Amino acid sequence: MVQELRFDNQTVVVTGAGGGLGKAYALFFASRGANVVVNDLGGSFKGEGAGTKAADVVVDEIKKAGGKAVANYDSVENGERIIQTAIDNFGRVDVLLNNAGILRDISFKNMKDSDWDLINTVHIKGAYKCARAAWPHFRKQKYGRVINTASAAGLFGSFGQCNYSAAKLAQVGFTETLAKEGQKYNILCNVIAPIAASRMTETVMPPDVLANLKPEWVVPLVAALVHPSNTTETGSIFEAGGGHVAKLRWERAKGLLLKADDTYTPGAILKKWDSVIDFSEPEYPSGPADMVTKLENSLKMGSNDK
Ligand code: NAD
Repeated sequence: MVQELRFDNQTVVVTGAGGGLGKAYALFFASRGANVVVNDLGGSFKGEGAGTKAADVVVDEIKKAGGKAVANYDSVENGERIIQTAIDNFGRVDVLLNNAGILRDISFKNMKDSDWDLINTVHIKGAYKCARAAWPHFRKQKYGRVINTASAAGLFGSFGQCNYSAAKLAQVGFTETLAKEGQKYNILCNVIAPIAASRMTETVMPPDVLANLKPEWVVPLVAALVHPSNTTETGSIFEAGGGHVAKLRWERAKGLLLKADDTYTPGAILKKWDSVIDFSEPEYPSGPADMVTKLENSLKMGSNDK
């Protein structure tokens, strides 16, 4: 029998919890005993407007089911107020799910600075501000779990979404660094690239596909990663949706090491291009130090590629 993971006495902050994935997280964690801060600005998916209804509806649903939740209506840009809501109402914060998001899809040619800036403000600055406000609490209690939300659009690019793609890949670097800085304090940080039916995707995917992509099916991975029983998985990227879960990682091709003198020319690289892109024996680098070690070893051994 599968063990039921519970979150009693923990406080989970979910940003953008008024709908879609955030709502599914909020309902789940409340049903498993957590106190939940249901944050939502309540605007449109393009980031226009604001309102209290989106968060209130979710809080009501949690309370009616016997759970504990409080609403917060701030934009994630004001992360300190969201975390303060957790402290004021529940006295602590244990888990931060940076989930809030909007879209401003437009071709690169037609993109305005305002489209670029708003996307980056909500996704990057928002995740930063919430994590920054939670961090001192996590460090003090030597416990914290963070999930940031990337996207396949960020990992692979997506037509008409260069603002969103840039902001989403930023979640990866942000998470990887937080994971390194947090590990000593038992703060584990992972990043997900979800796929789910929501108001964000309902116009870009056909109904039969959407029917198989309930937001609820991203929840189990997130819950497993932020549960206290996860003590090791951190700094990782996962894709999740429709019941599928898989870890992603960076891969390095065989590559080419040429002597760094005046023979090191564009032509010399092109001559051995096959080696630059040869993934037949991949390596899986895990940090900047890895590249330095590789270069040191190659220099000691002398390059075969001269
Ligand atoms: P959604 O629009 O249903 O939910 C996003 C929520 O965030 C909304 O309720 C919205 O009001 C809220 N929000 C927006 N700006 C905010 C702000 N400044 N402060 C606080 N709340 C704000 O969309 P969703 O599909 O559930 O998306 C959730 C996250 O998952 C987003 O970060 C999105 O980019 C990401 N994502 C979703 C998919 C997908 O397939 N649905 C794919 C990749 C990534």
